[in-house]
Amino acid sequence: MSAFPLPPGSTLGILGGGQLGRMLSQAASRLGFNVIVQDPQPNCPAGRVSQDQIVAAYDDPEGLTALGRACQVVTFEFENVPAGSVERLQQGGARVAPGPRALAVAQDRVEEKTFLNRVGAATVDFAAVDSLEDLTAALARLGAPALLKTRREGYDGKGQVWVDSVDKAELAWRAIGERPAILEARAAFTRELSVIAARGHDGAVAVYPLGENIHEGGVLRTTLAPAAVDAATQARAEAIARAVLEGLDYVGVLGVELFDIPGEDGGDGRLLVNEIAPRVHNTGHWTQDGCVCDQFEQHIRAIAGWPLGPTKAHARIEMTNLLGDEVDQWRSLAAEPDARLHLYGKGEARPGRKMAHVNRIKGSL
Ligand code: AMP
Repeated sequence: MSAFPLPPGSTLGILGGGQLGRMLSQAASRLGFNVIVQDPQPNCPAGRVSQDQIVAAYDDPEGLTALGRACQVVTFEFENVPAGSVERLQQGGARVAPGPRALAVAQDRVEEKTFLNRVGAATVDFAAVDSLEDLTAALARLGAPALLKTRREGYDGKGQVWVDSVDKAELAWRAIGERPAILEARAAFTRELSVIAARGHDGAVAVYPLGENIHEGGVLRTTLAPAAVDAATQARAEAIARAVLEGLDYVGVLGVELFDIPGEDGGDGRLLVNEIAPRVHNTGHWTQDGCVCDQFEQHIRAIAGWPLGPTKAHARIEMTNLLGDEVDQWRSLAAEPDARLHLYGKGEARPGRKMAHVNRIKGSL
């Protein structure tokens, strides 16, 4: 294995070729690295801004072997990369960051919450549900309404259903396809926050200011950052991020979604972790125009063994996702004086598809 820090001219591999891979590749390129992307879709958004693309499924053995041989480090841009792919890369002698443990934890909501609680990061109460009987028992313990989610492969609010009462248990169990699930107590949050943090190979940790997130229909619409939080809340989020990064022996950037729970009778509030994403995160896109070192460069620095970059914000940013044909607004957005447009180069603007985002600069800090 090549020694750290990897010098410019080294080759980095990315499993997954969507917009996150594209922006990682652009950041890597700015630091002088070569990038090879592996994705089954020819000409994918990341492939088009990289040196090369291996057109193959994420678990394709030949593709993985070629990727591992060509790259000094391999990373991924989404958490549903099969754990077996990462193991195969490692068995072939490739360096992979973050490692397979982070993937395994983030791919299973029960494992994830169990891990979080173990490292001292609070979550809602939950129960593993493998049958209708489990669901009924869990509802009796956690109370209704509660949220039933598939354990694996849910994202953007998919694979989840609210259960309003015990009578609705069977309906809910069917609605999620009678698959291994988790029942979560309802979090009585006033707002959703997130923290983006990084850990280097040397164990150094860097944490960005919190973002406040507004979802529509289960999909992120807007992030306002830095969020209007007091120093104690920022410090609490930083402690959570550090515990998660260290607990996973993590290398790279990670996103932590949080529920802000107000304190009762003027007491301190609490932050509960909703979920962790072992990758750069949509709620961290604001850093591209609000920080000197954005989350994409930060991830590349971490996996290449470079020192982590600064995380201080120099501007207040409102990040808005452009979904489906909203991307057609590019002309008017390009004419806005304080808006920076990030287009993903995707061909077909299917309804709800993330096509671009815009960072509006709301004043310097
Ligand atoms: P998730 O797919 O887990 O990120 O959930 C999608 C959205 O559902 C979150 O952003 C929250 O708005 C909401 N949500 C998830 N879990 C809970 C919960 N336990 N209580 C209340 N709202 C939740």
